[in-house]
Amino acid sequence: MEEKEVVSKNFIELAIDKDLAEGVYDHVCTRFPPEPNGYLHIGHAKSILLNYGLAQEYNGEFHMRFDDTNPTKEKVEFVESIKADIQWLGADWKDHLYFASDYFDQMYEAAVKLIKKGKAFVCDLSAEEIRTYRGTLTEPGKESPYRNRSVEENLDLFERMKNGEFPDGSKVLRAKIDMSAPNINMRDPVIYRVAHMSHHRTGDKWCIYPMYDFAHPIEDAIEGITHSICTLEFEDHRPLYDWVVRELEYPMPPRQIEFAKLYLTNVVTGKRYIKKLVEEGIVDGWDDPRLVSIAALRRRGFTPESIKLFVDLCGVAKANSSVDYAMLEYCIREDLKLKRARTMAVLNPVKLVIDNYPEDQMEMLDVPNNLENPELGSRQVPFGRELYIEQEDFMEEPVRKYFRMFSGNEVRLMNAYFVKCTGCEKDENGNVTVIHGTYDPDSKGGNSPDGRKVKGTIHWVAARTALKAECRLYENIIDESKGVYNEDGSLNLNPNSLTILKECYLEPSLKDAKAYDSFQFVRNGFFCVDAKDSTPEAPVFNRIVSLKSSFKLPNAK
Ligand code: ATP
Ligand code: MG
Repeated sequence: MEEKEVVSKNFIELAIDKDLAEGVYDHVCTRFPPEPNGYLHIGHAKSILLNYGLAQEYNGEFHMRFDDTNPTKEKVEFVESIKADIQWLGADWKDHLYFASDYFDQMYEAAVKLIKKGKAFVCDLSAEEIRTYRGTLTEPGKESPYRNRSVEENLDLFERMKNGEFPDGSKVLRAKIDMSAPNINMRDPVIYRVAHMSHHRTGDKWCIYPMYDFAHPIEDAIEGITHSICTLEFEDHRPLYDWVVRELEYPMPPRQIEFAKLYLTNVVTGKRYIKKLVEEGIVDGWDDPRLVSIAALRRRGFTPESIKLFVDLCGVAKANSSVDYAMLEYCIREDLKLKRARTMAVLNPVKLVIDNYPEDQMEMLDVPNNLENPELGSRQVPFGRELYIEQEDFMEEPVRKYFRMFSGNEVRLMNAYFVKCTGCEKDENGNVTVIHGTYDPDSKGGNSPDGRKVKGTIHWVAARTALKAECRLYENIIDESKGVYNEDGSLNLNPNSLTILKECYLEPSLKDAKAYDSFQFVRNGFFCVDAKDSTPEAPVFNRIVSLKSSFKLPNAK
């Protein structure tokens, strides 16, 4: 705890501290406001954990709000997936679940209030005309000829817009601010449009819908949000946000604070691209373990704790930057290394026969689950005359510094015995089919009986009791050596992003593993039971991450 206090606060915390100290607010209320138009990804996780974390830190409230003011793209399916993802991340909104569409009446009233104050008008210019009238960064805009309609006329027209009397695109409601404002967002922005569309929650009740920049501050104000945290692209919209809450005279106006988006180098997060990958069958849905949607990370075997660690390491910044996927891998290794049992699984098997081991004998070896964490206890692992080992742990002609199995060499079978290799059998094509060896009964547990040393230790699985499983190994879906996009704008896909190993042999302790359970497979990485395809008869494991890493924390000592 002491140490935590010393960690310096980020700029958002400093701003909140100041607001509390100056009495601007006497509490903290944050929100996460996704548009239900797709699956959440790792970037959203940052926003969720940031908002939820601040609410917790300041003993405040955290709201979950679907920003569903735009009826074209929204789907009920996404609402459910988003809720599941946020729950999984551990951000608890308690009974604060809201839908922006529930505020449509209040937004309408807010617009009427602006009209009555002379701060909004109905405009008949076309979208194209509005654009040309708006001006540019260097030239001021031009006032709409409809700008000086009377309050009465505006009230009448706006009501008739609501009643469905006008076709889409024929009229909009605009805020009356300043056509020569240096900030283009302040040049009489559109705040309501006519759109004869069904909404997934309000049905056909409305044929006018509020624009984001008008709706969002109202949503925040209605809910009593104090700090409305969003990403940098909204910085230029803040004056409009402030204008809306000021003109609507909310007693405790919320405050917008922007932070930089989280990007992962050479990783695709864009909905458009992922949708294409899904539709073309290149990936197996939005939760394909090669993607970085939250659903995909969960299926791959990432834990909420690892995502939290990742987000914390990334920090909160004011400048956009991109971090390496390797940092995410570092975080899941850190999280799992002491928590998970270290089990034995052979991914590319070849048989090893211990010729001096009794044919019908099987014995149970007591194996600690995790040497670095004795609390995980131990388990019984069967050993017998016929075992599987990795093909790469045997070489007929050993290369220099190869300390594993080759004829005449002695190795340690992890947790079991010393075994000396005596040769191998091959098929007509010269492939090694069986390796032979003899064991030293006095070396049980893998301990040297007489002080003699072996340099190699290999893992193994007893053939008779082995659990056969499929293992899936992943690489980045993008070929990083050439960047994310090809010249024609298509994604530069890595042909090796998925390797399926159909015949892997796992120790039998893994047979009761359930969806999302994860384990270390010694030397091979951390693996997780695939939630979509695994069955008790045909288990499927995803490799979450390998054990080795080139990643170093930037400030590691
Ligand atoms: P995308 O286009 O990547 O799906 P979005 O901004 O359209 O993202 P929203 O549903 O509008 O998605 O966003 C919900 C919240 O998540 C917003 O507050 C937004 O600022 C935040 N957010 C979105 N992407 C990121 C990111 N890469 N890093 C941090 N926060 C993000
Ligand atoms: Mg969006």
